[in-house]
Amino acid sequence: MKIQDNAVVAIHYTLKNDEGQVLDSSEGKDPLKYLHGAKNIIPGLEQALVDKTEGDDVEVSIEPKDAYGERNPEAVKQLPKNTFEGIDNLQEGMVLQAQTPQGAVPLRVVEVGDEAVTVDMNHQLAGVRLNFSVKVDSVREATAEEIEHGHAH
Ligand code: ZN
Repeated sequence: MKIQDNAVVAIHYTLKNDEGQVLDSSEGKDPLKYLHGAKNIIPGLEQALVDKTEGDDVEVSIEPKDAYGERNPEAVKQLPKNTFEGIDNLQEGMVLQAQTPQGAVPLRVVEVGDEAVTVDMNHQLAGVRLNFSVKVDSVREATAEEIEHGHAH
């Protein structure tokens, strides 16, 4: 069958950035299984897979707006260093969890100064164009329970 809403799809994929660096891959793992039309995967990839079928190869480049969004400059903030009291070994590249009213937000440490720490709350893949090589492994109809749950079982 062709991929459409309420299909359970399994794909093998390799994701690269524009520099050709592999960011993620299903190689050596089970294929990624998702429920089509339920926003389980990024919109640009979901769109590119419509009407494909088992065995198809799909090459697609997805702009940030159809992936993890553009980088938001306002999500880069300087915080007083004492905000981080009690965190041992605070250093560049560390990812911390910030507690906000909306829940935990990952916060990447960009720079540790003498008095302030610069943090970035953008998704790590924000502003990045994603180049996917996908092979469709299988397509089947979702069960009523999967549709109700909004994900593949
Ligand atoms: Zn479920």
